[in-house]
Amino acid sequence: MDHLGGSLATAGLSVAIVEREAVFRDRVRGEGIHPWGMAEAARLGLIPQLLAAGANELPVWQEYDHGVPGASYRWSDDSIDGWSEYGVSHPALQQTLIEWADSCGATVFRPATAVRYASGPTLVIQTVVDERTLNARLVVGADGRRSRVGRWIGAALIQDPVHHRFGGALFDHVDLDSSVVHDARFAGGRVFILPQGNSRARVYLMLSDERLTETGAAHTFAEFVDWTAPLRPNHGQSQLSFLKEKETSAFSNSIGGR
Ligand SMILES: Cc1cc2nc3c(=O)[nH]c(=O)nc-3n(C[C@H](O)[C@H](O)[C@H](O)COP(=O)(O)OP(=O)(O)OC[C@H]3O[C@@H](n4cnc5c(N)ncnc54)[C@H](O)[C@@H]3O)c2cc1C
Repeated sequence: MDHLGGSLATAGLSVAIVEREAVFRDRVRGEGIHPWGMAEAARLGLIPQLLAAGANELPVWQEYDHGVPGASYRWSDDSIDGWSEYGVSHPALQQTLIEWADSCGATVFRPATAVRYASGPTLVIQTVVDERTLNARLVVGADGRRSRVGRWIGAALIQDPVHHRFGGALFDHVDLDSSVVHDARFAGGRVFILPQGNSRARVYLMLSDERLTETGAAHTFAEFVDWTAPLRPNHGQSQLSFLKEKETSAFSNSIGGR
């Protein structure tokens, strides 16, 4: 959202950004940017902001089948302008972009919550000191999956039947090549590891609905780590076995996702 605000403000439009969180927290959201997303970001002139947020280049995609390394793929062989995958901390990117939008001339209300909407369009926001009314020619709702703006404008929410669930955790002290995405497949599931640099990595667990019905979701760190056991080969150490060996203290954030 803030990238749109910054871009419109740069083009000379009057822009207000309303953000509820005083400090962005890790909600396990959106950290892998595929090469075509990077190409779009380049077109919008946003690469400096991505790099300022610590975006980490991930040129190689490495697959594993039940813990055994398989084919690896180099994005730049096929991608638009040779772009790679990148991994970036979502809260770090949110913070960088909102500061950038502010520096481009957008007015940032933060912390402030959009509380009401009326045609016009008019948006009523609650700041820490008062309630204000903003009149705008256009309101853009980028307020997440439980979007109030979507409800206010009567947007229909259409949900597919559940096929799989996705969750993740943030790990520190990860001793893996930080230029590689690790994509490990096993029966009914998949684990992705997206290094963010500085020995930190996002680990995502994807489970099919059938597998979840059989086993229940991983709600704790221990359960989450247990799910990675199939990644270990029958003999020897897998490159991913660090997941099983890490102490709970290495788990630096909450398990999230859906
Ligand atoms: C587990 C998981 C993993 C994902 N992984 C990826 C990935 O690897 N790559 C990728 O591209 N996408 C990924 N996504 C999808 C991606 O995170 C979302 O598409 C993206 O974050 C949506 O952007 P958004 O701005 O609409 O919402 P959000 O990123 O959720 O941001 C909404 C913002 O609006 C603020 N807000 C909400 N309500 C109000 C209000 N009433 N007033 C003021 N502020 C408000 C919130 O504080 C928040 O800062 C993932 C999603 C999940 C759930």
